Amino acid sequence: MQSKSRPKLVAREMFYCTKCGHLMHQSARACPECGAPSSVQGWSDISDRSRLTALLLCIFLGIFGVHRFYVGKMGTGVLWLVTGGLFGIGVVYDLAIIASGEFEDADGFRVAAWESD
Ligand SMILES: [Zn+2]
Repeated sequence: MQSKSRPKLVAREMFYCTKCGHLMHQSARACPECGAPSSVQGWSDISDRSRLTALLLCIFLGIFGVHRFYVGKMGTGVLWLVTGGLFGIGVVYDLAIIASGEFEDADGFRVAAWESD
C-alpha cells in the first residue's frame, strides 16, 4: 500500500533528461536537446498529492468536486460542483482512475503515491 521508497523531489520543477542529461522544466513534454519524451522520467511524473487523500475526497465529497480542487483542477472542480460530479458519472469515473493511480493533477502529474510526503 505505501510507497516510502519513493525518491524525494528536491527541485520539483526541474529535472534531468535520462537520455542526454539536459536540465529541463517540468512543463516540458519532451527534451529540448534530444527530443526524448519527459515521461521516461520514472518518478518525475508523480504528483506530490496523496492518492489516498484524493480517493477519500472522491468517495465522500466527490459530487462536490473536492478531489479535483485538491489536485488543482479548479475548472473541472467547479463543473463537478455545479453538476453533482457530472450527475454521479464523473465521480464513479474519477474513483476508478484515482484507485488505479492514473488520475492527473493540474500540472499533468499522476496522483500515484499513497502518501503525500
Ligand atoms: Zn535529452
